[in-house]
Amino acid sequence: MQSVGPEYTQGVWRFQEQIETEEPITDRRGHPRRLQVRWLVRDRHLCPHCGAEIGHPYKERVRDVRGLPDGRCDVLYHVQMHRYRCIACGRRSYETLPFLSSPKSRITRQLERTIVEMRGWASIKDIAEHFNLPWETVKDAEKAALKRRYARVPLAGVRHVGLDEIYVSGKGERAKRFLTIVRDLDTGAVLEVADGKGKDALAKFARRMRKYRRNVESICMDMSNSYAPWAEETFPNARVVYDHFHLIKSLNEKVDAVRRRAARNADEQTRKVIKAHRYDVLGAPENLTTDGRKALDEILSTFEEVSQAHGLREQVRSIYATAKTEPEARVAFERWCAAAEASAVPECRAMAGTVRRHLDGILGYWIFGGANNASAEGFNNKIRWLIRVAYGYQDREYFKLKIFALPETRLDRAL
Ligand SMILES: [Zn+2]
Repeated sequence: MQSVGPEYTQGVWRFQEQIETEEPITDRRGHPRRLQVRWLVRDRHLCPHCGAEIGHPYKERVRDVRGLPDGRCDVLYHVQMHRYRCIACGRRSYETLPFLSSPKSRITRQLERTIVEMRGWASIKDIAEHFNLPWETVKDAEKAALKRRYARVPLAGVRHVGLDEIYVSGKGERAKRFLTIVRDLDTGAVLEVADGKGKDALAKFARRMRKYRRNVESICMDMSNSYAPWAEETFPNARVVYDHFHLIKSLNEKVDAVRRRAARNADEQTRKVIKAHRYDVLGAPENLTTDGRKALDEILSTFEEVSQAHGLREQVRSIYATAKTEPEARVAFERWCAAAEASAVPECRAMAGTVRRHLDGILGYWIFGGANNASAEGFNNKIRWLIRVAYGYQDREYFKLKIFALPETRLDRAL
């Protein structure tokens, strides 16, 4: 007999079985499949409260549980369920099955573990086809495992916190259009995924962190939102930091505004070029294709204002690339602000305002080790990828759990 799990060998867990084999069917890949139906009958019953033997268990309904396949044979267990009334302690109870990870599970713990393992490299759809299981069952198996794994994310060692608001979708309830994600910037671990945005979304996280709030040294976030007062109140020893990724993002909003204005005032032909090459203007020039580079040069040489805004952003990037210490960065930013303020382009002066208002936080980047920026950007790309492939699953809880698993998720495969 194939074992249903190691639990079977323990004490009273002796099962009798009967095997019925049904006629083979053909699966979606054209392979013949058989279904074996095995009856599992427990021959002794113990009271879960006191351990006394139950002489007369009452029969309840029969449960169907899918197990690991036996070669090409799918295996289905019929399990006679029981209800107990214990003579020794007088308590009533229902029979539980030790080979299920949760009472309502429709697959054995062994099959569940195999599915979770396979999810490291196979899509839900592939696994569902492989085991001839419903898609939902595979997803739910993974979801249950993720839930156990991320039920208690340890918070005691958290020193550097990253906060991000992520726009998920314009559809659905207001509170669900955004997610607020909290990460440990040293380990990359996701600490919280909350619906909505703003400090209300973070109330639960703040409660969980209460014991450790004095450990937090820095909290890194976007400039365009209003978390700073909340952060200072919640983490009394933390400094608010605006990192490379968020500053460039914020400056790019201004660059984009100038670009759009240039497009509005251009002739039809030029407008098309400006619109088509939005990401060449906003992206890092060193990563552009030859065509992108050419289009960018053309836009910059035609539109003085775009060129100025773009140049200022590039100068900020070069401060990040060259400044080694906080004082060095401070001098560079002061000089940069003076140049931006002297510009005739209102967006450029606005860029200077943004940097001046947030300078302490921006300089925090040099105090708390600049290593964070790559991870913020990388994580944002991963989130965008996940939204693209998994949001359509319509299971918000699963989607949020997948965010917890993102640091360990490979992006080069179907989900
Ligand atoms: Zn009892």
